[in-house]
Amino acid sequence: MPLKPFAPNHGADKKMFLLKPRGFCAGVVRAIDVVKIALDLYGPPVYVRKEIVHNMHVVDELRKAGAIFVEELEEVPEGARAIFSAHGVAPSVRKQAKERRLEVIDATCPLVTKVHLEAVRFARDGFSIVLIGHKDHDEVIGTLGEVPQCSYLVETVDDVDGLELPDPSRVRYLTQTTLSLDETRDIIGRLKERFPLVQGPPAQDICYATENRQMAVKAISEVVDLLLVVGSQNSSNSKRLVEVGDNFGVRSFLVNDRGDVDPVWLEGVKNVAVTAGASAPEHLVQELIEFLRGHGYQQMEEIELVDEDVRFSLPSELMISIR
Ligand code: SF4
Repeated sequence: MPLKPFAPNHGADKKMFLLKPRGFCAGVVRAIDVVKIALDLYGPPVYVRKEIVHNMHVVDELRKAGAIFVEELEEVPEGARAIFSAHGVAPSVRKQAKERRLEVIDATCPLVTKVHLEAVRFARDGFSIVLIGHKDHDEVIGTLGEVPQCSYLVETVDDVDGLELPDPSRVRYLTQTTLSLDETRDIIGRLKERFPLVQGPPAQDICYATENRQMAVKAISEVVDLLLVVGSQNSSNSKRLVEVGDNFGVRSFLVNDRGDVDPVWLEGVKNVAVTAGASAPEHLVQELIEFLRGHGYQQMEEIELVDEDVRFSLPSELMISIR
């Protein structure tokens, strides 16, 4: 992707580079809208299984508005209204919701649903599925739950070496949507060495938002001395941005908000880049910018790598109520 021209800082002044795209993706916008609209339509309480998106500020705000966050559906009263998070759920959770007669609104990101459908199709066609992802992540738990009998999770190249599959000629791989592009490429490369006939999905599972944010970090890496990523510690795509920065030689930190920034990090730093994971609200970025201004970063330039205009429609169960 071509990078629009920007001016590296050759002067003595400190400068901030604000990366774009950053922050909310279409799946996160949709999931937060689902909770807000459900609260408006039905009034509190509305139950949400797991964090609707992986950001403590978003969750706290929705909790204040009347959402009740639970870990599992046993905590939801029978017959109540429950929202599934953007990360998706396994079929066993849908079954449990039915048994408890819950009014479900599914805020699973459509790009996660795509991966679920691929898993089901590959399994139906008799393939073993190697899922590349992180073991305890909600999305991975949901995807593995679609076809547990023929799914194999790998997190590293070493995991690929340890794979024992029933038929090495019938293998397909899928990935979590929020992985590092570079690490995933290495794992897929090893998979192809071990299983030459392995194939992936027709279009990569790592989503556009994850890719764009990582590309922006790479594009700025030669110019900056420090990268600050706004995002929560349990946000996979935010953590990957920190890794990408580190891998490209930029000291990188993940911060929930400006309160996490240690001023020591800024000592001797002329150029700092700021970005945000796909679940981090923009107001936290703006607060961080103000903080950096207060520390002498008076110049700011926004670097736009690509124009993101993806939108997802609301879940049909909510649209029916709106009409
Ligand atoms: S990061 Fe990607 S997969 Fe996850 S909610 Fe956003 S658009 Fe969907």
